[in-house]
Amino acid sequence: MLQQGEKIPSRTLAITFDDGYEEVLTLGLPVLQEFGFTATIFAVPGQLGGRNAWDDGRAALLTTDHYRQLEKAGITIGAHTCQHVHLTQVDRGTAEREIKESKTKLETALGHPVSLFAYPYGETNDTVDTMVRESGFEAAFATDRAPADHAENPYRIRRVVIFPRNTVWEILVKAQAWYPAYQEWKRGKK
Ligand SMILES: [Zn+2]
Repeated sequence: MLQQGEKIPSRTLAITFDDGYEEVLTLGLPVLQEFGFTATIFAVPGQLGGRNAWDDGRAALLTTDHYRQLEKAGITIGAHTCQHVHLTQVDRGTAEREIKESKTKLETALGHPVSLFAYPYGETNDTVDTMVRESGFEAAFATDRAPADHAENPYRIRRVVIFPRNTVWEILVKAQAWYPAYQEWKRGKK
């Protein structure tokens, strides 16, 4: 809809999961299916079937077979760099390679084009945005350091972050259309 320049209807919600934890399949998918939602998972293809080595290394990550299974269930797979790097901190060559290879590696594993990207830690800048666009991705997802209007920049689509500590009430608040404006207002007050 963003590509067509159409207005997104109110009460539209997109669910995304970064990193590709095995629990998205074992715990997440049954809940999504129960309530009739799909989702997009941003995978770290340098670590397929591995662990979250960039963090504490304790969480198991989805394998290629898992991703194929999730796709059959209607889940979209996007890329999240090969090794979950800080794209605004590594050198240019590394950033470019991490972006490009995350696309080609996933495409080889899944057997079809991969068009969506999410910046690890939500970190990006104009140079990184451009690298992602020039690597052939159609859109990229930031976190809450992005325009409130999704139509403004397809390479910096804003997302609201849900943390494990968030209550159902907080998730309800975060899902409201006015929440990004509230977040910006709160940030301005600090
Ligand atoms: Zn991540």
